[in-house]
Amino acid sequence: MSAVQIPTEQWAQVVEKTGGPAVYKKIPVPTPGPDEVLINIKYSGVCHTDLHAMMGDWPLATKMPFVGGHEGAGVVVARGELVKEVEIGDYAGIKWLNGSCLNCSFCQQSDESLCPNPLLSGYTVDGSFQQYAIGKAAHVARIPKECSLEAVAPILCAGLTVYKALKESGARPGQQVAIVGAGGGLGSLAVQYAKAMGLHVIAIDGGEEKGKMCASLGAEDYIDFSKSKNVVQDVKNATPDGFGPHAVLLLAVSEGPFHQASEYVRSRGVIVCVGMPANAFLKAPVFDTVVRMITIKGSYVGNRQDTAEAIDFFRRGLIAAPYKVVGLSKLQDVFNLMEEGKIAGRYVVDTSS
Ligand code: NAD
Ligand code: ZN
Repeated sequence: MSAVQIPTEQWAQVVEKTGGPAVYKKIPVPTPGPDEVLINIKYSGVCHTDLHAMMGDWPLATKMPFVGGHEGAGVVVARGELVKEVEIGDYAGIKWLNGSCLNCSFCQQSDESLCPNPLLSGYTVDGSFQQYAIGKAAHVARIPKECSLEAVAPILCAGLTVYKALKESGARPGQQVAIVGAGGGLGSLAVQYAKAMGLHVIAIDGGEEKGKMCASLGAEDYIDFSKSKNVVQDVKNATPDGFGPHAVLLLAVSEGPFHQASEYVRSRGVIVCVGMPANAFLKAPVFDTVVRMITIKGSYVGNRQDTAEAIDFFRRGLIAAPYKVVGLSKLQDVFNLMEEGKIAGRYVVDTSS
């Protein structure tokens, strides 16, 4: 194991029952198994998934009690005896996919997010809302030393997820992409990745603050769903020929936009579902889907290569989305703001306070 001094107790945010709240308390520091590393988490982004997990929104059971968080950036302080590829002192990150079997036919083809037996950080295993978190060495994100740990944290879920979703959309440089929920955590990063990939961005969200942020991040149009009389027409009007965008990224946390996207996507366009509102279903007219040759698909996080590429975009200075830092003890306040849709960009918690 290691020579670094590791405490036996640490501060963490623990969800003790479905519906919350998260409770700030001291818990034991875990010990890594043979193929695992222990990361001293410095910062962790707060994803809407963490709120879904606490509220029991999805048809998948969480561990209980559990420590949430899956955008954890920190320093490796211990490693199991089988771990060769990660050194003590390396920067590393806890992602949503904490581990996968590496043996099934999905893992064999680097589609590890589809592994039927995954370990999910902050859901089926404890995540990064604690000072010391465990990750499978094969899966932890490798973070270059020149990256700021607080700024890189949101890349570990939001960034890599939207980067992967943009690739899944098949949109090419010069084409238009509509980003629905562009003012949120995933959305703000999606605007930046889309811009870096040479796409024109039509941002859709609610409120002036989010509109200003989207414009500053590089969106060419902003459609305020809370004010627009006809979102479908507004989105089409934002494309040069009026036929609608080539791709739509659905990052919103409400069901309505999932039904609307097929009305404004361009013929032969691709709708990528990423947001996961509770109890939501997709509905699209079969007739239009056929005669306009529309593709509707899902995209779920990304694999290890997507992670490395998304971090590399960030390292090269191509990605800078706004985030606010608060102490880990204030996590429940962040959840409250998130529930009200009041967060423009991302919150990152500092585990030292
Ligand atoms: P967030 O709360 O930061 O952002 C959601 C945004 O959606 C908000 O800005 C909100 O105003 C906006 N919105 C709500 N209704 C809207 C509407 N009708 N039209 C346009 N915008 C609307 O949340 P986040 O952290 O960015 O996460 C977004 C979703 O993505 C969550 O459901 C989360 O669980 C999911 N997610 C999925 C994956 C994946 O792999 N597929 C990965 C991470 C997160
Ligand atoms: Zn997430």
